[in-house]
Amino acid sequence: MKIICVGRNYAEHAKELNNEVPTEPVIFLKPKTALLVDGKPLYYPEYTNDLQYECELVVKICKNGKYVQERFAHNYYKEVSLGIDFTARDLQQRQKEKGLPWEIAKAFDGSAAVGDFITAGNGVSNLQFELQVNGEVRQQGNTADMLFSVDKIIAYVSRFFTLNIGDLIFTGTPQGVGSLSVTDELTGYLEGEKLLNCTIK
Ligand code: MG
Repeated sequence: MKIICVGRNYAEHAKELNNEVPTEPVIFLKPKTALLVDGKPLYYPEYTNDLQYECELVVKICKNGKYVQERFAHNYYKEVSLGIDFTARDLQQRQKEKGLPWEIAKAFDGSAAVGDFITAGNGVSNLQFELQVNGEVRQQGNTADMLFSVDKIIAYVSRFFTLNIGDLIFTGTPQGVGSLSVTDELTGYLEGEKLLNCTIK
């Protein structure tokens, strides 16, 4: 399986990191070793001094596909969850300044926390989600504010990468990203339902 991630998919988040609002999806991958599930903790990596959270809607692919057309893309997923795209922001900043790939800052072990999946019965185009850190609301988003919808993302990425059953798509983070410390507890809510829990150790 692979983890496909979308960067800068919410205009307000692109602006908070001083990035351009993109005209095409910004795509990067994380390896399977990045997956962090079952509420396991993330150990603060020794190579960063600025570990940050990015709470995102995660879509699970349920059908193999290549060159999926946008109008059929909804057939390729049924279940969604919330995930944290953990980012070593200082490393990412250094890589960006040099124009280098940023995988070491975003695809490290445990960098893709994923919560419990639920069936997206009413579609994925208007889902409210929220991240709390130590019980305090830090990020709130609605998938209606995505620059590129889930179906557009699937159409776009499947031109380059064959989608396989079980692949995950991290669909981008809304504004409000921030730094984490050891002992922080992250809790993610989708439409009011608690789906994700992860502690920094
Ligand atoms: Mg992200």
